[in-house]
Amino acid sequence: MKIDITPIKEGKGLSLVRDVELDLAWEDREAGIRLLAPWRVHAKVVHAEAGYLLTGKAQGSYMAWCDRCLLPLEKEMAVTFSECFVPVYQGEQGNDDECRLLENDQIDLKEVILEQIILELPMKHLCSTECAGLCPHCGVNLNEETCACKAPPDPRLSKLSQLLEPKGGGQNG
Ligand SMILES: [Zn+2]
Ligand SMILES: [Zn+2]
Repeated sequence: MKIDITPIKEGKGLSLVRDVELDLAWEDREAGIRLLAPWRVHAKVVHAEAGYLLTGKAQGSYMAWCDRCLLPLEKEMAVTFSECFVPVYQGEQGNDDECRLLENDQIDLKEVILEQIILELPMKHLCSTECAGLCPHCGVNLNEETCACKAPPDPRLSKLSQLLEPKGGGQNG
């Protein structure tokens, strides 16, 4: 998705606003992360003193895999972005490297948003902060079932567990 700045070229202070839904179509196969469509984007371009200033916000969701139970999860995410652009001829005359070059009067909105999302994507993914994960011995999903595996005995707790061991088989005698 490109924004054509032609309508605001004529004068400084002019601005334009875009509210769009984008399919960013990005995934990181190695990390198992995929952006879901659509991302809702609000963007504004202002013809500023030194060039064009793009600001805005993008909101959407992505799919990843839980680090503990290995099941797929979906998370909402929002990013804000702010970038300046200078026309190529102006940039070549001494860009301070903080602004991007504006080519053919087009701002690549998708590129700016993607860069921001990739920067802010969390490194860790949990389906829930309480996710119990998988049993390291038999591999069952401990969120859904319990297993018979026992943690290795902790000598500090063995006294206690003896005390808690039920006596006899019946309920209430
Ligand atoms: Zn999980
Ligand atoms: Zn187990």
